[in-house]
Amino acid sequence: MIIVHGGAGDWTEEKLEIAKEHLIKSVEIGLEILNKYDDAISACEEVIKVLEDAPVFNAGTGSVLNIFGEVEMDASIMRGDNLKAGAVAGIRNIKNPISLARKIMEETDHVFIISEGAEKLAKTFNFENYDPITEESREKYKELKEEIGKFDRFKKLSEFMQKYPQYFIGTVGAVVVNSKGIIVSGSSTGGIILKLKGRVGDTPLIGAGIYANEYCGASATGIGEGIIRTNLSAFVCNLAKFGISVQNAVKSAIDYLTKKVELPAGIIALDRNGNIGFYHNTKHMPVAYYENGKIHYALKFQDIKASS
Ligand code: ASP
Repeated sequence: MIIVHGGAGDWTEEKLEIAKEHLIKSVEIGLEILNKYDDAISACEEVIKVLEDAPVFNAGTGSVLNIFGEVEMDASIMRGDNLKAGAVAGIRNIKNPISLARKIMEETDHVFIISEGAEKLAKTFNFENYDPITEESREKYKELKEEIGKFDRFKKLSEFMQKYPQYFIGTVGAVVVNSKGIIVSGSSTGGIILKLKGRVGDTPLIGAGIYANEYCGASATGIGEGIIRTNLSAFVCNLAKFGISVQNAVKSAIDYLTKKVELPAGIIALDRNGNIGFYHNTKHMPVAYYENGKIHYALKFQDIKASS
């Protein structure tokens, strides 16, 4: 079983069309790996790589730029059977941050490595030097950088988001479970456009952006500050551990976040029996998942309700 998302937010029709194609393709590739090798970690990594390589998403190639016009990417991966995890933050010069997160999980004694240290490690592991900044991300930056003067950047992010909702989308995430019930969660992002240098969101924080245990895996998206404050992914997995269905768990978690921190967010989850859950308080959260022998796509939680 696999579920992927392309970021909670307010998408334009044009971008959604492109995102849909890549989300479905990523699930197909993940399924192929699961069918051949039953390897949930490789499936999760490869699914996220497909999405990182698609510039329509705010992850890997096409990541948004910070206040100084630089890219700083974050990613993480976690497996539920032994609670091993790897995460990277503030990395600027590799193609697939999710692969470095996996290396940290599997080849080092650590869980989380940031910026310069992460870049040095990437070199040690022979990752090629790569510039993930696209023409479009530079354009977006220029356009918004001019506008930012009209806002108090330190306090009024929400005002800025209301005016330009289409720029706050595109983080990617996946949860995969194999035939042995091993659950793997992952996520990758460029963070929030015009973020302060050094800002780290929820995506690489184990418990906030992703979590996995023996019962459930979850991957979150939205304004990271709200997700960190509610420890959203661990929230969902712990509810599942105590017997709550994943769909009820994701809804409770998002309702709690909406009430307490009033910020946009969404989350996908999958339990070891392959039940899926997803919920969001934003206009859209494009998801693709495999169920009953078919790949499904939904743009909003309501769409799946309507078709089930
Ligand atoms: N959660 C990401 C962050 O705050 C952004 C997103 O999901 O759109 O860095």
